[in-house]
Amino acid sequence: MSDACPCGSGRPYTACCGPFHAGAEPPDAESLMRSRYVAFVRRDFPYLWRTLDSNHDEKRDGAAYDDWLSQIREGTKPLRYKRLRILDVGGPDHEGYAHVLFHVLVARGRRDASFAERSRFVHDGTGWRYLDGSLLPSRLLPKPIEALTFDSFEHAARR
Ligand SMILES: [Zn+2]
Repeated sequence: MSDACPCGSGRPYTACCGPFHAGAEPPDAESLMRSRYVAFVRRDFPYLWRTLDSNHDEKRDGAAYDDWLSQIREGTKPLRYKRLRILDVGGPDHEGYAHVLFHVLVARGRRDASFAERSRFVHDGTGWRYLDGSLLPSRLLPKPIEALTFDSFEHAARR
């Protein structure tokens, strides 16, 4: 199916992440995470900026969009995104944070640059936003990757 959404949901892009890129707000943190991955695939940088929380490191203290844009454009140029897997989802917790653990299969040129990330999301009154995350390269992850949970990820991150 040529119009399958790159997030891996099995649904067409136009019925999955497409509406979010067109302006609708994802209803939960997992939908936001999926749509942000697809925005990386499609190089939809305005969407990535719009869904960064204002307290994210790259947006705090009045960071300028143009500076951020040129950095992310250069930084992602050699990357080829192949696959997203959502591994664990939690929250929102009592502080309002939702967590998503996911794995991204990605190559930087000819080299594997795959990683797992535990992302934290917060609702800013308008929609879910990406606040921060911790990341581990695939080679440091316990296998099989499909079995990864928040607990086993945290355990691997502490080593
Ligand atoms: Zn999707």
